[in-house]
Amino acid sequence: MQIIQKGNQHTNSSSRDGHAPIAIVDHISGGTMGSMDAWFTSSGNEQSSAHFGVSKTGEIHQYVPIDRMAWANGLSVASIAKATAPLIKEQSPTNPNKYTVSIEHEGTDGTLTEAQFAATVWLHNYISAEIQRLYGKPITLDEKHVIGHFQVDPVRKPYCPGLKFPWSRLYAIFKSKEVDEVKKDVIVSVKVNGKRVADGVLDGGVTYTPARAVAEALGATVLYDAKTNTVNITK
Ligand SMILES: [Zn+2]
Repeated sequence: MQIIQKGNQHTNSSSRDGHAPIAIVDHISGGTMGSMDAWFTSSGNEQSSAHFGVSKTGEIHQYVPIDRMAWANGLSVASIAKATAPLIKEQSPTNPNKYTVSIEHEGTDGTLTEAQFAATVWLHNYISAEIQRLYGKPITLDEKHVIGHFQVDPVRKPYCPGLKFPWSRLYAIFKSKEVDEVKKDVIVSVKVNGKRVADGVLDGGVTYTPARAVAEALGATVLYDAKTNTVNITK
């Protein structure tokens, strides 16, 4: 995947004022990719911008650098109380634009093409990794930190990114990736003198594995005393 830079001198952005990005907000553009490119680079636009746009063909356009704030989902302090996303309320009274990264999707009702879906999955992971690189902590890809504009501003934007936006499919992919990483990291094969006797879990430098499998492979006997709740290994 590649990102095509599209922002220009007219693209709206401001300082994050020291806030590290902690969430991604998904949007629907309500028009074509061409109209999005034109609007976000127009000298007449003094209202809005977004960091990224994802086209139906799976092309990714970037308008605002992610260490800058885009004008995508700002709220007045009074409106923050109406947000339905817990994260937005927790961060009150900070303007959500300060700590979010925004992705627009070409379309109207939230339906994404397969190419567009694949591109946005890649982009969410890319943003999280970039935030890790720039700020030392990734954006967690889950229901709390990847949200829709309607959860930020349910009064003015109840249909952004659209009723058909594939939330459950998106979250399921983020979860399955996490599980894969956990499995990859901590399941180890335990061998005695080169012969595999059990599986173990490596956690913080300690391997947890069935004592009996290891002890018996070393020719020891294992006795469990239920009264004292003790395992006694003898040889
Ligand atoms: Zn929106």
